[in-house]
Amino acid sequence: MTHASAPAPLRAVIIGAGIAGLACAVRLRAAGYAVTLLERHDAVGGKIRTIPSPAGPIDAGPTVLTMRHVFDDLFAQLGASLDDHVTLIKQDTLARHFWPDGSQLDLYADHERSIGAIRAFAGAKAAAQFTRFCARTRSLFSAFDAPMMQIADPRITTLAAKVLAQPALIPAMAPLSTLRGLLQR
Ligand SMILES: Cc1cc2nc3c(=O)[nH]c(=O)nc-3n(C[C@H](O)[C@H](O)[C@H](O)COP(=O)(O)OP(=O)(O)OC[C@H]3O[C@@H](n4cnc5c(N)ncnc54)[C@H](O)[C@@H]3O)c2cc1C
Repeated sequence: MTHASAPAPLRAVIIGAGIAGLACAVRLRAAGYAVTLLERHDAVGGKIRTIPSPAGPIDAGPTVLTMRHVFDDLFAQLGASLDDHVTLIKQDTLARHFWPDGSQLDLYADHERSIGAIRAFAGAKAAAQFTRFCARTRSLFSAFDAPMMQIADPRITTLAAKVLAQPALIPAMAPLSTLRGLLQR
């Protein structure tokens, strides 16, 4: 006599419990996989970590949560809500930069306010450069967010098709430039 048994769950092994591995584990678990997550350090989080200091723990890696909807989506995959686990308090001031001479520049969630702060700090030319930088990165983001960043299997052919349809993206992508060189310019 034979017994019909339930099929064994598909198994997945993920190496590295940084945010990418953790997010991957959540998605695979939600899809019904039995997931094993391997991490060589004694804590999860990868670059998301704090280091002790006499003044208390200090973030050593990321500090800014820029794309909340990604986390909302992850939690929703498990039928949970980000708000039930994390208290997020929106900040108007996103970054405060200090220089050895005591000067200081704040950047804000409000784009126009940031431009005004840069103008006051470094003049109209710098404010115009920042405005151009933002326009350029905005055009790249809106072109590649859905077809490259949000899909599971981004392909070079998708990228090529996008660029051929919008050749103005080519200079914005700064081919053959390093990020360092680009930022210096
Ligand atoms: C200083 C700093 C500031 C940043 N600020 C921001 C920010 O404000 N906002 C933002 O969105 N992003 C920020 N980032 C970027 C963000 O931190 C990273 O993109 C993200 O944390 C990377 O996650 P990851 O899972 O890809 O890699 P990692 O966090 O590097 O995780 C990889 C994990 O894999 C483990 N691992 C690797 N090899 C093995 C192995 N063979 N066996 C077992 N385990 C292994 C590692 O120990 C590690 O835990 C910042 C990064 C830095 C360094």
